[in-house]
Amino acid sequence: MGDISRRAADITESATLAITRRAAELRGEGAHVIGFGAGEPDFPTPDAIVSAAINAAGDVKNHKYTPAAGLPELRAAIAGKTLRDSGYEVDPAHVIVTNGGKHAVFSSCQVLLDPGDDVLLPAPYWVTYPEAVKLAGASPVVVPTTQEEGFQVSVAALDAARTERTKMLIFVSPSNPTGAVYPPDQVAAIGAWAAEHGIWVLTDEIYEHLVYGSAVFSSLAVQAPEAKVVVVNGVAKTYAMTGWRVGWLIGPPEVSAAAGRLQSHMTSNVSNLAQRAALAAVSGPLDAVMEMREAFDRRRRTMVTMLNDIEGVVCSEPEGAFYAFPSVAGLLGREWAGRHVASSLDLAAVLLDEIQVAVVPGDPFGAPGFVRFSFALSDDDLAEGLGRFQAFVAAG
Ligand code: GLU
Repeated sequence: MGDISRRAADITESATLAITRRAAELRGEGAHVIGFGAGEPDFPTPDAIVSAAINAAGDVKNHKYTPAAGLPELRAAIAGKTLRDSGYEVDPAHVIVTNGGKHAVFSSCQVLLDPGDDVLLPAPYWVTYPEAVKLAGASPVVVPTTQEEGFQVSVAALDAARTERTKMLIFVSPSNPTGAVYPPDQVAAIGAWAAEHGIWVLTDEIYEHLVYGSAVFSSLAVQAPEAKVVVVNGVAKTYAMTGWRVGWLIGPPEVSAAAGRLQSHMTSNVSNLAQRAALAAVSGPLDAVMEMREAFDRRRRTMVTMLNDIEGVVCSEPEGAFYAFPSVAGLLGREWAGRHVASSLDLAAVLLDEIQVAVVPGDPFGAPGFVRFSFALSDDDLAEGLGRFQAFVAAG
C-alpha cells in the first residue's frame, strides 16, 4: 500500500455508505435485512420531477456540456427557493451546483482551508465532515456535546476550543446524526460569535424542511448576517432524490468563484438530466416533503418509544432530520450471542449478523457508546427491525 497517497490512505470509507453496502450484499444473499443505515427517504421521487428528467433526456441541448457552475436557470431557481424557504437573499451568481451536498462540503473545504488551519467540529458530527477537512490539509478540532445538553454546542464550548488557527466552524441544524435543532437565538449567538472572531461558518441546511413538534429551522446566514457563511444544501432529503446527486453551495463572491473554478477541472457540470429534475423540484411545491415529514414524524415517535422500552438503551427525542441517536452504553461490556460486545462498533456487527438489523455505530460520528438509527424507512420495516432488537436484548 506504499504507493497510495497519504491523503487517500488516511481516509476511511463512509460508515453510512459502508453499512448500506453491507446490508445490500446480505440482501443479495437472500437475508431479510432491515436497514436503519443510510439516511434516505423510502419514498420515490415525485412524478413531476421524474418527468422533467425524462423530457430532458429527449432534448439534445442536455446531451452537451453546460456551464460547470450549474445551469443558469437552476442557479436562479435555487436563489428563489433559498429566499422562500430560509429568508436568505442571494445572487444566483453565487450559487454553485454540485454533485450532491457532500460535494458542496468538499468544495467549500477545498476553497477555504489550508494546511495549518483548524476547523471546529461539534460532535457527534456527520462522518464526512472530518474527512473533507483532512482532504483539504486542515485539521478537525472536535468539540464534544452531550446527550444531556441535547447535543447542542454552546458558544462557551466553541470559544474554549478556539485558537488563532481556527478558520472554520461546521454547523448543522437539524443535525445528522443527532436530530438536534438549534433554536433561532442560539443559531444567532453562534453566528455572532463566529463573526466576532472572523471564523467562517459552513452551515449545512440539507434537513431544513424536516423539523417536528415545536422545533423551527433557522438559517445561520439569516440569523447572523454579519458572519462569513457558506450555505450547503441539496435536493436529496427534501424531494427524496438521494440518487440524483444534486446539491449546491452558496458563498460570498470570491468563495463561489473559486468553487466554480475548482469544479471546472474536477467534474465539469453536474449531469444535465439531474439538474433539470432539480430545477423542477426547487421551482415546484413542497407538498411531497410535507407528506414525508408527517410519515417521518409518526415513525420518529414509534422509534423513540420502542428504543426507550429496551433496557440499556436511552434515546432522546430527535427534533429534526430523520435519525434517532440513542446511547447503547447499557448494552456494552458484556456477551451478546456468545460474543463480547465492547463498543457500539461491536454491537452494530452483532445486530447485523444475528438479527439482520443494520445500524450505524456512533464511533465514526465521534460518539462511541451511541448508535444511529434512520427512521426514513417504512413503518412496517421500522416496527419489524425494532421488534427484533427488543427481542434480541430481552433474550439476553
Ligand atoms: N447523509 C446520509 C447519511 O448520513 C446519506 C449517506 C451519506 O452520504 O453519508 O446517512
